[in-house]
Amino acid sequence: MYDIIVVGAGTAGLSAAIYGVRAGKSVLVFEGLIYGGQIANSPEVENYPGIKMISGAEFAKNLYEQAVELGAKVEMSNVTGILDKGEHKVVISDNKEYDCKTIILATGAKNKPLGLDRENELTGRGVSYCATCDGPFFKDKTVAIVGGGNTALEDAIFLTEYCKMVYLIHRRDSFRGEKKLVDALKQKPNLKFILDSKVIDLKGSLNLEAITIENIKTNDKQDLIVSGIFVAIGQMPENEIFSPLINLDKAGYIVAGEECKTNIDGIFVAGDCRTKKIRQLATAASDGAVAALAACEYILSNV
Ligand SMILES: Cc1cc2nc3c(=O)[nH]c(=O)nc-3n(C[C@H](O)[C@H](O)[C@H](O)COP(=O)(O)OP(=O)(O)OC[C@H]3O[C@@H](n4cnc5c(N)ncnc54)[C@H](O)[C@@H]3O)c2cc1C
Repeated sequence: MYDIIVVGAGTAGLSAAIYGVRAGKSVLVFEGLIYGGQIANSPEVENYPGIKMISGAEFAKNLYEQAVELGAKVEMSNVTGILDKGEHKVVISDNKEYDCKTIILATGAKNKPLGLDRENELTGRGVSYCATCDGPFFKDKTVAIVGGGNTALEDAIFLTEYCKMVYLIHRRDSFRGEKKLVDALKQKPNLKFILDSKVIDLKGSLNLEAITIENIKTNDKQDLIVSGIFVAIGQMPENEIFSPLINLDKAGYIVAGEECKTNIDGIFVAGDCRTKKIRQLATAASDGAVAALAACEYILSNV
């Protein structure tokens, strides 16, 4: 019987493991893909407090080693379900059942891709899903951003502060995002709206050099020379397997506030997979600490 089982070895899950083992609890972490989560493939991180610059892979490795050296156990295996048996919980992975006193769900989220050939290959080489993280690398360059919601609009405003020119590409002629953001963008001399259009091709040898866009009403195509493209068409959490037990919002995020408690006592949530506004490494690590200490408190008073 583990004190805490964590689902997901990203920043939130490994931070939870660090806080759990340092509080004297036995912690097992399940990871279905690669430890480190989303950040593992990012070339540079410049905004994690206390670390001036680090590659995503090194950040992930440090976090993993810190958790393991402190005593957390990591199983590289996908979790396929969880059960609430009242006095204890069960995590199912690889057709085996693992008993525990508390569970921390830290399954993160995936950015929705455009679905284009070469998108994976050029990610980190001009294709980015995070303007907050990567925008400053494109200082004085021309970039495009794709999307029509608040994230795309806010990211576009952010990018106009750094970039020579920003093309905002949206498949409709109006935006889902707030009007005040659209109005603010209209004032920006280095922003151009490209509406009723979608990106159909990514071009470049080693790095992104241009994109092809198509007007979906006229079918006219044109190439735009850009150094970067920021994809902001939404994220996809993967929490359906927990939905028989755990409340999710319409978009699939686990419903919880800053205290990281789900609707089930003894089951906590941390990081990008929960309802929240800012999804970053710092907020994921913070959630991991909060969820682990809440799990310790639950064990003390309930188990
Ligand atoms: C390209 C890129 C660059 C970024 N750059 C920055 C940056 O510079 N600074 C910054 O602050 N933020 C950055 N971010 C955002 C940051 O990476 C995320 O906010 C952070 O990774 C969230 O951590 P997390 O632990 O909540 O989720 P994730 O990192 O998504 O980790 C979740 C983990 O859970 C695993 N998992 C999911 N389901 C299961 C299951 N059923 N069983 C077992 N394991 C499972 C996944 O495989 C994954 O490893 C970037 C994101 C991307 C994509």
